[in-house]
Amino acid sequence: MPRRTLIKGGYVLSIDPAIGELAVGDVLVEGETIAAVAPTLEVGDCDVIDAAGTIVAPGFVDTHRHTWQAPWRNIASDWSLFHYLWGMHTGLSKYYRPQDTYAGNLLGTLEALDSGITTLLDWSHNLATPEHADAAIQGLRDSGSRAVFAHGGGAAQWGSVPGNTVDHPEDARRIREQYFSSDDGLVTMALAIRGPQFTTEQVALHDWALANDLDLRITVHVGDGALGKTRPIEWLLRNNLLNDRTTYVHCCSLGDDELAMIADSGGTASVAADVEMQMGHGWPATGRLLAAGVRPSLSIDVCTSTGGHMFGLMRTAIGTQRALDNAANEAAGGVLGAAPVELSCADMLEFATIEGARAVGLEDRIGSLTPGKQADVILIRADTLGMAPLNNATGALVYNAHPGLVDTVLVAGRPVKRAGVLLGHDPAAVLAAAEQTRDHVLAQALLDPLIGDISLGGGWVPRDPAGA
Ligand SMILES: [Zn+2]
Repeated sequence: MPRRTLIKGGYVLSIDPAIGELAVGDVLVEGETIAAVAPTLEVGDCDVIDAAGTIVAPGFVDTHRHTWQAPWRNIASDWSLFHYLWGMHTGLSKYYRPQDTYAGNLLGTLEALDSGITTLLDWSHNLATPEHADAAIQGLRDSGSRAVFAHGGGAAQWGSVPGNTVDHPEDARRIREQYFSSDDGLVTMALAIRGPQFTTEQVALHDWALANDLDLRITVHVGDGALGKTRPIEWLLRNNLLNDRTTYVHCCSLGDDELAMIADSGGTASVAADVEMQMGHGWPATGRLLAAGVRPSLSIDVCTSTGGHMFGLMRTAIGTQRALDNAANEAAGGVLGAAPVELSCADMLEFATIEGARAVGLEDRIGSLTPGKQADVILIRADTLGMAPLNNATGALVYNAHPGLVDTVLVAGRPVKRAGVLLGHDPAAVLAAAEQTRDHVLAQALLDPLIGDISLGGGWVPRDPAGA
């Protein structure tokens, strides 16, 4: 008999239409899976988690994060997209040793887990050597989180863009064979490839064929600023490469017709609203995607710029779209403030959970509190001065909650956070390793004439290494 845990008496937001919302509800976990969800369950001989005063929900899913960058938190908060490409992507990245990738991935994944993100797609695109890939996977595995390791190549693939001529590394084949011969583990694999806007057509065709050959889902940036206006989706359609196993990240500067092409193919999307507005990718595409028939997922993206938790991201994403909708209504002759709200908090919570699960290909396993699914469950305190009285649990999660309220987190039925404390990790040691990484990279960068004037404190803005 597997271990049984009864999560008792919480406000349950199941995200399962057949179960709905329970003002007082119980969730029974048996081993790794959810066994039952009901207003009240009588169960003998089990562990009990008292959920009174909390909101019980499925864990959040972040569908795109460059986790390796976590030790450089907020260094890029005042940078544009181009500054980021020069400073982080082809600048600081080259000084990462495998242990730095490990330190970044462990810190970034634990940060996510601590804030209720139980599944993270690690968009890992600083894999200079096979050892870097090994270290990235080890960091994910050691965190205890559910994760998708999205193998994304390294500087050879990401330098000299657009028009890069270097194929996605063959090491992806080894990784698939050595670590991911099964797709059933807590950590699974995807291929993070460059869109055709970054490479030659020949390389794009090679990379898509590699994903097909390895039988992997694809995650790809498209519609990211000016580069995104080069009609990448139309190119993919022409080459018969659009499919329902691909997640299109950003989509900000794609044409409406291209969003329709994604919808027709059954593809999924990832909106990184904070980064898109901070760096200049364009307006978050939430509303345009919905109009085209794609319900998006959400992603943190560049954790060197913005916060790493889903509460802030949901707030940005819904606030942006509502503002755009209001402005559009007024522009069409409507009265400002009189238009009904179209995008709901419930929509946003679905984007952060079940749509995220769909975008990483795990909707049959996670994303809702559905009996038979894996027990990835979060409890958020709702009995605090800032959350009570709880008059609208969904609204409170989207517009009011924060990581400090995350009381309990279960991944595959296993408690990884209880009573506000992350279990099985020493945060001081994780942070010390991340600081060592930061200091190592900083010391190397100070000797690099292309980077040179780097400093901490927010004053450093990278310059174009080409001298522009
Ligand atoms: Zn990204």
